[in-house]
Amino acid sequence: MTRTLDFSTYSSIKIGPVMDVLLLDSMTPLPSGYTLIGGANNLLVSPNPPPLAMLDKCFDFIYIQNNTLHVGGSTPSGKILSFAKKHNLSGFELMQKLPGTLGGMLAMNAGLKEWEVFNELIAIRTEKGWTDKKAIEHGYRFAKIEGVVFEATFTCKEGFDETLLSMFKKMRDNQPPFPSAGSCFKNPQGHFAGKLIEEAGLKGKRIGNMSFSDVHANFLVNLGGGTHQDAIALIALAKEEVYNRFGVTLEEEIILL
Ligand SMILES: Cc1cc2nc3c(=O)[nH]c(=O)nc-3n(C[C@H](O)[C@H](O)[C@H](O)COP(=O)(O)OP(=O)(O)OC[C@H]3O[C@@H](n4cnc5c(N)ncnc54)[C@H](O)[C@@H]3O)c2cc1C
Repeated sequence: MTRTLDFSTYSSIKIGPVMDVLLLDSMTPLPSGYTLIGGANNLLVSPNPPPLAMLDKCFDFIYIQNNTLHVGGSTPSGKILSFAKKHNLSGFELMQKLPGTLGGMLAMNAGLKEWEVFNELIAIRTEKGWTDKKAIEHGYRFAKIEGVVFEATFTCKEGFDETLLSMFKKMRDNQPPFPSAGSCFKNPQGHFAGKLIEEAGLKGKRIGNMSFSDVHANFLVNLGGGTHQDAIALIALAKEEVYNRFGVTLEEEIILL
């Protein structure tokens, strides 16, 4: 089974071709040669991407069993947040305006400062079975997950925190109002990518209809009709300028397909 996706509307950065994406509707390994995607909130899809696959909606579920939260790999962050609020669970407030599916959030260990998706995680279920969190190497915007995350379990701790929710909302209120894929680069150790880009004189730098935001320099934004080529040119320019000026290598957080 496949689903036809138009990446110029499906992806958060609004760039990419129309193509058929393979739907995984059972817990089998990703077919060889395929690349897995979730909600495409952290992707820059080229005009000629590799064959792509995504989880079917049968993996979009959330329920509590024996005081453990079970969430399917294609469940969107907004649904997890609403469920946590309704059931008074703490630890999911960070999903306020953090776009993605559970699988994508785990693969990126998505989060904000010290609040990360891995914090309340118990275990993930891939085609190889269940793996405990402690057996998964993970850190800042990184998790070494082998296989497809079809499901994960989380601790059920009481106390959904409205104050934390408002804090996250406020932190995101000053995000650029244009389509993006979130932060373009990871923060290099001891530095902030946005500050380096700004100090390299590239805050607001525009090529075609793509630009490093003049609100937050580490957001590569699509001003309307921006192309993959322009996005790639800006990424290369930032890496080169930052390296030449500060000797720091920027590493993409955005995934190039
Ligand atoms: C406006 C905006 C703000 C953002 N703010 C933040 C932020 O504050 N913090 C943050 O961390 N991120 C942020 N992001 C980035 C994005 O929200 C996260 O990276 C999110 O985890 C992406 O999830 P996705 O489902 O869209 O994954 P995709 O972008 O589709 O894929 C990301 C990665 O996950 C892998 N993947 C997807 N599904 C699975 C699966 N089932 N099993 C295994 N691997 C899988 C893919 O192979 C890929 O490597 C932001 C993005 C936007 C657009």
